[in-house]
Amino acid sequence: MGEIGRELLELLAKHNIEYKLDVSTKERASFKIGGRVALAIYPATAEQVAIALSALDGAGIKHEIIGNASNLLFAFDYYNGAFVFTDRLDRCDLYEEYIACGAGVSLTHLANLAAKNSLSGLEFAYGIPGFLGGSVYMNAGAYGGQMSDVVIHTVALNKKNGQIIRLDECEFGYRQSIYMRDRDLVCLGATLKLARGEESEIRAKMAENMRQRKEKQPLELGSAGSYFKRPEGHFAGKLIEDCGLKGFSVGGAQVSEKHAGFIVNRGGADWREVLELERIVKEKVALAFGVTLEREVRVITDQDVVLD
Ligand SMILES: Cc1cc2nc3c(=O)[nH]c(=O)nc-3n(C[C@H](O)[C@H](O)[C@H](O)COP(=O)(O)OP(=O)(O)OC[C@H]3O[C@@H](n4cnc5c(N)ncnc54)[C@H](O)[C@@H]3O)c2cc1C
Repeated sequence: MGEIGRELLELLAKHNIEYKLDVSTKERASFKIGGRVALAIYPATAEQVAIALSALDGAGIKHEIIGNASNLLFAFDYYNGAFVFTDRLDRCDLYEEYIACGAGVSLTHLANLAAKNSLSGLEFAYGIPGFLGGSVYMNAGAYGGQMSDVVIHTVALNKKNGQIIRLDECEFGYRQSIYMRDRDLVCLGATLKLARGEESEIRAKMAENMRQRKEKQPLELGSAGSYFKRPEGHFAGKLIEDCGLKGFSVGGAQVSEKHAGFIVNRGGADWREVLELERIVKEKVALAFGVTLEREVRVITDQDVVLD
């Protein structure tokens, strides 16, 4: 693996690409767990993303694209590579019932913008703490809606050849997309198609979704949302609860007392504790019900092996 050298930093500076060295990731992650990353890059345009990623690839430096880090477990003390944050890809244009937006726009902002313009379709997304890019990647969804319902196409950078392409077919499935399958693709933005509606009705639906979230989810503690995918024919939370694991903890990591599908950080949890808790939960559920739980949360390690 390559080292972060002066040449790379000079190239970023030459192209006015913002970066920071030796950055803590803990505050950024919704889990409130994370070590330091050697280099954090904040491109503001598609071209800057392409330049940064090509430079990282050229120098053999491992890297990850990071949205709002709300579906991630940072499982490292020090990541000797680069995180490319999408925050500054935050352009958002509205045209009739279409919204064209960058990967770094938050879903809550999009839902609010839609409501303000009497556009329906994003009520489900209100309160999902992700950015557009990460939510396309995950095909995030809730309360009967998902990203694939509103995305008509996405714009992607193909890292292999540096081309920026429009993808009309994103191969969406349950918490799946083409971006997950093809790691050479980076989502730069998307166009969403919404439907005309009544602002008051849209806002009422959003408020109801938020009320349910607050009632059912442990929003007061760090987490990455539902930790496991929904197994065919079951609910992960119910299986875990039926194993008597609600409230079970390993150090600071705990199966939420409010919603057993969430692993929460009670304070000061270490990533190793989360992974150990995950292992125990999976083992007990498999033993009790013969169901294999699959992690929904993405784990970023400092190793060259992918954990899932
Ligand atoms: C309290 C809470 C509630 C939640 N509720 C829900 C819910 O109801 N429904 C739901 O689906 N999820 C939920 N989540 C999980 C999470 O918010 C979503 O999955 C969200 O869509 C992730 O977006 P993100 O920007 O945070 O992505 P990140 O966590 O930053 O990244 C997720 C993955 O996407 C990749 N990625 C990010 N941006 C890009 C890009 N531009 N191009 C290519 N790859 C990219 C990353 O490399 C990573 O593998 C919840 C999380 C929390 C903490």
